[in-house]
Amino acid sequence: MKIAIIGGGAGGFFSAIAVKENFPSAELTIFEKSKKVLSKVKVSGGGRCNVTNGCTNIKELAKAYPRGEQFLKKAFGTFNTKHTMEWFESRGVPLIIQNDGCVFPKSQDSQSIIDCFLQEVKQLGVEIKIGKGILSIEQQDKQLLLNINGEKLLFDKVIVATGGSPKLSGLKWLQDLGHKIETPVPSLFTFNMPNEEIKTLMGIVVEKALVNVQGTKLKSDGPLLITHWGMSGPAILKLSAFGARILSEMNYSFKIQVNWINEVNADTVRNEILQIIKSNENKLVNNYRPYGLQDRLWQFLLTKCEFPKEHRWSNLGKKGVNKIVNILTNDIYSVQGKTTFKEEFVTCGGVSLEDIDVKTMQSKVVKNLYFCGEVMNIDGITGGYNFQAAWTTAAIASNLKA
Ligand SMILES: Cc1cc2nc3c(=O)[nH]c(=O)nc-3n(C[C@H](O)[C@H](O)[C@H](O)COP(=O)(O)OP(=O)(O)OC[C@H]3O[C@@H](n4cnc5c(N)ncnc54)[C@H](O)[C@@H]3O)c2cc1C
Repeated sequence: MKIAIIGGGAGGFFSAIAVKENFPSAELTIFEKSKKVLSKVKVSGGGRCNVTNGCTNIKELAKAYPRGEQFLKKAFGTFNTKHTMEWFESRGVPLIIQNDGCVFPKSQDSQSIIDCFLQEVKQLGVEIKIGKGILSIEQQDKQLLLNINGEKLLFDKVIVATGGSPKLSGLKWLQDLGHKIETPVPSLFTFNMPNEEIKTLMGIVVEKALVNVQGTKLKSDGPLLITHWGMSGPAILKLSAFGARILSEMNYSFKIQVNWINEVNADTVRNEILQIIKSNENKLVNNYRPYGLQDRLWQFLLTKCEFPKEHRWSNLGKKGVNKIVNILTNDIYSVQGKTTFKEEFVTCGGVSLEDIDVKTMQSKVVKNLYFCGEVMNIDGITGGYNFQAAWTTAAIASNLKA
C-alpha cells in the first residue's frame, strides 16, 4: 500500500506514526511544502507547546470548540486528552498539567515534542520530503494522483494534513475535488480600542469579568487583561473564537459591554452598594473599593462617572447609586480592529465537516482521501485544544478505514 501524507505539521507527523504502527509494511511518505517540518509545534505555546488540556470529560472538552463541537464529541470517544497524555508519556515525554488545565512537556520546551516525533518516524521508516507542495489531486480509478510541484505520483491512500489556510484560494485544490469549503476567517485575537482611555490601565487583570458584544448574543466570562492597545485575556480570546465569523462580518468594529464584577443581577449590585453606603457614609467614594476592584480601575471608573472629587458615599443619592451600578455591570467600550494573539492563533473555516465521515475522517466526496487537523472546519479556544483536535483526527484517520 502506497500512502501519502500531505503536510509535515502536528497532524501529519502524528498520523504518519500511527499509520506505520497500524500498517508496518505500508510505503509512507510525508510531503512538506516548506523547508521545515513541525514549525508551528516549535513556536507553539510561547515555545513550550501546550500539547493538550487536562480536561477528561468529553462533553466539557467538546465545548472548547466553536467549530466542531458535535463532530469532536463523537471523535473523542475514540481518542481524547487521556490518550494524548498516555501517548507522549509512553514515548518518553513526561508531561505536567498546570492549575489552569494546560498540559506542557515537563521540559517546558516544544523541542521535546519535536524530538519525540522525529525519533519515531525515523525508527518506523517514514520518508519525509521537504520543499514538496501538493498542487492538486486527481482520482484515477481507486487511486489518487498527486501533483507534487509538477511531478505526478499515484497513491492508494492520502491523508491531508495541511493545516489552516488564511485564504480561500489556499483551499481551492480541495474545493476543485468537490468539497464544500467554509470561508476562512481568523480566530483567537485581541481587541483594539484606539479611542479608549482604558488603555492607560495596561497590565491590570480583572479575574472574573463578563463581556458581551452589543447587538449580538455573544458573551464570555473569565479573566480580562487590559493591554496598551485594548483588551485581551481568556474572556476576550474566547469571545473572538466564538464570534470569529460574526465579528469578521462586523469588520471588527463593534461595542462591548463589560461587567467588571460578573454579577448580572442589577438589584443585587444595588443592594451591595446601599450596604456600603450604610457602613461607609463619611468615607470618600474613591477610598472604598466595592467588590475588591483594583484601585486604578476603581479610580478610572469613578472618573468615567464624572463624580466631583471628594465625593462621599453619603452624597451619592439615587442617581449616583444608579451610575455606579451601571458602570460596574454595563461599562461600554468601542472596539476598532484586532491584533493577532501571538501565543496561539488559528483559522475558523476549512473543509466542511458535512463532507467528512467522523468515524473514519474519510472524505465523503473522494474515496481513500482522509483529513486531519486544522484544514478541517474545526478550531478551539486556547489551552491545548487545537493540538488535541489534530491528534484526535489524526489518530482516527490513520486507521485508513473505508
Ligand atoms: C504561534 C502559534 C502558537 C500555537 N500554540 C498552540 C498551543 O500551544 N497549543 C495548541 O493546542 N495549539 C496551538 N496553536 C495551534 C496549532 O499549532 C495548530 O492548530 C496545529 O498546528 C494544527 O496542526 P495541523 O497539522 O493541522 O497544521 P500545521 O501544524 O500548521 O501543519 C501543516 C503543514 O502542512 C504544510 N502544508 C500546507 N499546505 C501544503 C501543501 N499543499 N503541500 C505540502 N505541505 C503543505 C505546512 O507548511 C505545514 O507544515 C498555535 C498556533 C500558532 C500559530
